[in-house]
Amino acid sequence: MMGPSHALSGAAVWLAGSWALNQFAGYEQSPLAIAVGTAVCAGGALFPDLDMSGKVTRNQGGATVARTFGVVSLFFAEVMEKISLGVYHATKLSKDPHRNNGHRTLTHTLPFTALVGWGTTALCTAYGKWAVIGILFFMIGLALRGLFDEWAKRAGWVIVTIVSLAAAYFTFLHLPGDRGYPMLGLAVGVGCFVHIMGDIITSAGVPILWPIPIKRRMWMMIGIPNKIAVKVGGKVETVVLRGVFTVVSVLATAGLLAPSVLRRFNIEV
Ligand SMILES: [Zn+2]
Repeated sequence: MMGPSHALSGAAVWLAGSWALNQFAGYEQSPLAIAVGTAVCAGGALFPDLDMSGKVTRNQGGATVARTFGVVSLFFAEVMEKISLGVYHATKLSKDPHRNNGHRTLTHTLPFTALVGWGTTALCTAYGKWAVIGILFFMIGLALRGLFDEWAKRAGWVIVTIVSLAAAYFTFLHLPGDRGYPMLGLAVGVGCFVHIMGDIITSAGVPILWPIPIKRRMWMMIGIPNKIAVKVGGKVETVVLRGVFTVVSVLATAGLLAPSVLRRFNIEV
């Protein structure tokens, strides 16, 4: 799937999950907490594609997420791609094909998803609000790039960086004091997982089983059969799927906000 679909799917899953937690488990979050979780999950849903450097992007016309913070994120993506390729070569078995780039390898696996979610939580636990502001800045930038891709392209990376900083700072000021922020790690992890699911329904697939070896292959690409796979950038993705994600997001948001709006007008439900 393309960037905007990934980001939108992350937002939809987080909003729907928050609604379900509230509805069925009585777990209530403040509107700010929901907004932060949604932005971080949308950003997290783009994170795995930060394994695609500028050159690769040009050749394949793929993700623009590496341009979120200008050359800084391009460099980050280049490093991530090389690390992924290194891990691929170090762990590949005899039947795994030779690769020249690491896109859709390490960052598209379940251990990576768990590591990123755990790492985020560990950073927040160790450094408190300072880690939070850094993670928010990074994730909000990715979310902006994904959710408002046309605007982000026109505005350029400098504006995106400034808006992300401002949003991160605002959140920093309004977030309750030093404590663990396990929901942030969860949001990043869920975002990465949603990304992998989004790629699985396209024909290229992802190495979801790594590191479980199958038929002398460690990096088996798992995807649904070509005949029913979603075409990247096709109508099913840009109209049907994005439509569904938008409707789910709107309904979940309405469901989350309705009780407090009704309460404000003293209407008992
Ligand atoms: Zn991907």
